[in-house]
Formats: sequence, C-alpha cells, structure tokens
Amino acid sequence: MNIEALARPEIVALRPYSSARKEAPARGIMLNANEAPRSLLAEAGLNRYPDPQPQALVERLAALYGTRADQVLVTRGSDEGIDLLTRVFCRAGRDAVLLCPPTFGMYRIAAATQGAAIVSVPRSPANAFRLDGQALLDALAADRRGDGRIKLVFLTSPNSPTGDGIEQALLLEILEQARGCAVVVMDEAYAEFCGRPSSVGLVGEYENLAVLRTLSKAWAAAGLRCGTVLAQPDLIALLQRVIAPYPLPSPVIALALRTLQDDMLDRQRRLLAEVSSNKQNLLAALAGRPFLSEVIPGEANFVLVRVNAETAPGPDPAAGARTDDPAEPLLTFCAERGVILRGFPTEPLLRGYLRITVGTREEIAALSTLLDQWGQRL
Ligand SMILES: *Cc1c(COP(=O)(O)O)cnc(C)c1O
Repeated sequence: MNIEALARPEIVALRPYSSARKEAPARGIMLNANEAPRSLLAEAGLNRYPDPQPQALVERLAALYGTRADQVLVTRGSDEGIDLLTRVFCRAGRDAVLLCPPTFGMYRIAAATQGAAIVSVPRSPANAFRLDGQALLDALAADRRGDGRIKLVFLTSPNSPTGDGIEQALLLEILEQARGCAVVVMDEAYAEFCGRPSSVGLVGEYENLAVLRTLSKAWAAAGLRCGTVLAQPDLIALLQRVIAPYPLPSPVIALALRTLQDDMLDRQRRLLAEVSSNKQNLLAALAGRPFLSEVIPGEANFVLVRVNAETAPGPDPAAGARTDDPAEPLLTFCAERGVILRGFPTEPLLRGYLRITVGTREEIAALSTLLDQWGQRL
C-alpha cells in the first residue's frame, strides 16, 4: 500500500517549502539566500546555511545502521523524529497513537501537542513491566474493527525506564496487524547496549515501519542532538515535508561526522564494554538492600529499582518531601548529597520506582556509600 494513504491529507497536499539551499547546490557565487558574504568567525564558515541533509552524514549513518541512503532522515535527536511522525500521521481530534506505559515520555507530549488521543496498553509491575504483546495486538484488532483511530504504534526496544526488549516475532505480528492502518515506530535509542538484532533489517519489507536511532546514548553524544529516522523513501519524503528547512547546524554536522569516523568505532566498543561492566558493579551495589524490594536490570544502560514502601520512612516534613511517593525520601536524600536519580512523580504506574543510570565506577561507589548511610538511618 501507499503510505501516503495513512498520512494527514493536508500534509500530502502541502507544497513543501523549498529552501535556497535545496534549490541550488552550495557552489559558485551564492547570491540566493540573503546570507552574509563572509563569516565573522573565520574558521567556522557560519555565514552559509547548512545542507538540509548533508550527503556525507546521511551516507555514514546509512552504512552504520545498514540501510540505503534514501531510507535515512537525520533529525535533531530522536525527539524530533517522534514529533515529525506524530505531526504527519495524526489528525488533531480524530486520530490516536498507541503507547505502552510506562515508557518514554515524549510520545505522550508529541501526541498531546498534535491533539492526538492516546490508546494505552499498560505494562504490569507483576511481570517487571514487560510489554504485554497479546494486549497490544488485541488493542490494534479492536481499533481496526472500530473506528480505526490508531495511526502510530510506539514501541521501544529496549524500553525506558523498564529496560525490556521486544522479540522480533512479536514485532512481525504487530507489523502485519498494523499493515494498511498504522505506522509502527520502533524506538531503538538503547539498541547498542542490548544483544538483540536491530529491526532496521525489516525496513525494506515494511512500508509501515519507522526505526529511530540516536547518537545520544551509546555514541556518548547527547549534546549533539543528532538522531536518525530509518524508513522507506516514501515515508521519509513525508517527514521531509514538515521538518524545519535547515534542521542541522553546521558545527553539529561536522562533529557528527567526526564522532562516526572509523577510528572512533573502537573507542565506542570500549565505552560499551565499560558500561556493561559498570552495570554489573551497580547491580552488586544494589543487591541485598532491605529498602529495595525489586531491582529490574533491563537490557540498557540503566536499572529500575523499587523502594520498599514498608521500610521507607514516612514523608519527612523537615526533609521537604514533595509527594507521598515512597521513592521520594531516598531520591531527596541522594539529591541533597549530590547524587541525582530519576523519580517518576507524574507516572502513577511508577509510584515507588527510581531509575538509575550506569555511571563511572567512582559515581557508583558514591551512590553505594549513600545507600549504606540510608540503610543505617532506617
Ligand atoms: C533518550 C531517548 C530518546 C531521545 O533521544 P534524542 O536522540 O536525544 O532525542 C528517544 N527515545 C528513548 C526511548 C530515549 O530514552
């Protein structure tokens, strides 16, 4: 099927803005874009608009992820990919996205911003928040029998903050079920940390699959804001219609190319090995703590822990606890001593849970010392 049939008709009808840099190559005497004739920072060449999708970077990312260059859209982080997909496929007040909370918070924000409804297939704490594949397929089937509102299915593998990955067999079932009615977005922000094969290999077969990758996590470059949408060219072309004319600043393009040079691959592998070893260290530091009732290791560079409500002291007014979340006193105790963990005060499913990123050995040791002190206070 043609993916345009799923997109908002007004996006399909839109005649996209044609920037000066798109209309003419950056060669010759350039008097077409109202740029300054020279840069004030001589070394940076900032006077010229950047290439909207620089070919060298597109080709490097295609090689890295194993796709063709025409299946790549470079974005300002995966966050922008999520936003573009939601804006292209969801009609305000009519369409919906399917989410499996607890999950990454930006899907909900993008849907709300676009006026799209949310169909929730929640994960249960009873099985460590693993995705309920059958419930998801049932929700899709019910939507197809009903008014067919679901236009995007957000999947995350590994998921944040629960760390679980998705089996390829389940993904295939979801793709088949969604075919002709919804785009399946596979967010693989943490793929490099886990042993599972990427779903990028399915892009050629499924016109309704969009895979999100990013340099923010395993490439240690969150500051770059560089993400990639991988999908068939027709879907990429739809996203091109709404992306900002010059999404990638020139210094970012240069640094992204530098980050992905061949000599960096080895450094990245060492970083991944270090994170993996430090994660074992973190898990050891968390084991046997009576005030933690559950540790969910997951497949990524973080773990999710549950603070035992019975051992947690009640909210201490002097400590300024802001909520009745049983995780809040420990979160505050650590924060006041300089170790920042992630709580989830606005996610009811994660009451009592904290997410801890795998840091350096020294950072884990500092956390471990604080957990010792916390244990002694109870
Ligand atoms: C961190 C994260 C992202 C955001 O990535 P950026 O490329 O930095 O925008 C996307 N999805 C998930 C699940 C994440 O955890």
